[in-house]
Amino acid sequence: MMEMVGSTAASYWKSMEEHGFRPDQPSSRSWALLAGYFVGLAVLGVVVPGPKIQGVVLADKTRITYKCNGFAVLVVLLAVLAGGASAGFFSPSIIADQGGELFVAALILCTVLSIYLQVVGSLSRSKSTSLVSHATGNVVHDWWFGVQLNPSLLGLDLKFFWIRAGMMGWLLINLSIAAKSYLEHGSLPVSMVLFQVFCLIYVLDYFWFEEYMTSTWDIIAEHFGFMLVMGDVVWIPFTFSIQAWWLMTNRAELTKVAAFMDVVIFLIGYTVFRGSNKQKHIFKKDPKALIWGQPPKVVGGKLLVSGYWGIARHCNYLGDLLVAFSFSLPCGFSSPIPYFYPTYLLILLLWRERRDEAKCRQKYKEVWVEYCKTVPWRIIPDFSFHHDPSTTGLRFANEKLQD
Ligand code: NDP
Repeated sequence: MMEMVGSTAASYWKSMEEHGFRPDQPSSRSWALLAGYFVGLAVLGVVVPGPKIQGVVLADKTRITYKCNGFAVLVVLLAVLAGGASAGFFSPSIIADQGGELFVAALILCTVLSIYLQVVGSLSRSKSTSLVSHATGNVVHDWWFGVQLNPSLLGLDLKFFWIRAGMMGWLLINLSIAAKSYLEHGSLPVSMVLFQVFCLIYVLDYFWFEEYMTSTWDIIAEHFGFMLVMGDVVWIPFTFSIQAWWLMTNRAELTKVAAFMDVVIFLIGYTVFRGSNKQKHIFKKDPKALIWGQPPKVVGGKLLVSGYWGIARHCNYLGDLLVAFSFSLPCGFSSPIPYFYPTYLLILLLWRERRDEAKCRQKYKEVWVEYCKTVPWRIIPDFSFHHDPSTTGLRFANEKLQD
């Protein structure tokens, strides 16, 4: 088994190298491309209009204001790049052509930034929740997990900016790989089209609903250290695009039935993912807003048990996993490599669910215990009907609320 995975990885790597993805010392061109990208994003973030959204209330009762103009910024960025490529200033495959160099450059940039954050964060004497130093004295721990919640640079909230750069970078890498594939073969297989369309919808949706990010774990709870810095700008763009690299070298063909099934899985996953995150976000903003057309049911006045949040405690993870799976299915089953993303996401979300559980148990105490009794399912709901109905999450929730 190990031998098979090893030889698949070796041949995959060889074909990646043949198509230009070879981690390499960045040329000045790659550095310029990366610098131009970050400076361009920062400038567009300032000049492009967008709604200003108040983040969650922090422990010191302050709130950060986020300018959620990601969608408009992305549209402008894509228009500028498309214009530049069609005017012949650069090839649309420029990012894919320099993929290996950009990967190394991004890794170096993230390492330098994380060291900077550690030094500045550890020296911080601020008492505010955003900037207070959480340095533990363990240098490796502090570097990996970060020491400040919301560090900023030149007025830019770094955590919010960095995830934006990573998500947009992922899309740009995908599109550039599609362009390279098209330029080399003169056409795109259905498998590549499906992967590209799904990712495009996912990223556009992410920025359309960018304000929902302001209440997610990364933004409200995670310190900004190497794990997030590298995760956002190296891990997301360069590993979530593995399917595209793989499809460029393998050009998998799909039957109509397989393509249809993949679309169905994507649509179900997307509906659950977006719907559940939206319900929680709306509930946090307006605890009386209707959920699925009904007044929301709540435990302890704080936790939603209506909609997806009454079916399982993390339906949003389930939706995301289905979507991730649909990104890989176009590649078929001849290799485990395109399944890197869903496999990683499964491990990450299982781990995250445990951490979130511990955080909520501490924060909400007996209310959380009540919620867990009311909604016993963690990620995957139990829809089987052979159980005693009084033990199912939905039934139990209704009974409790009628009390
Ligand atoms: P959630 O959006 O699920 O947020 C968890 C928080 O929501 C809890 O800490 C708690 O915070 C609040 N909460 C939990 N249950 C309830 C409830 N019943 N009613 C009201 N509030 C509740 O977690 P994440 O930030 O981890 O995930 C957000 C999305 O991002 C998910 O869809 C996930 O799949 C996705 N994601 C994707 C990744 C990727 O690599 N593709 C990586 C990580 C996440 P509070 O204390 O504020 O009440």
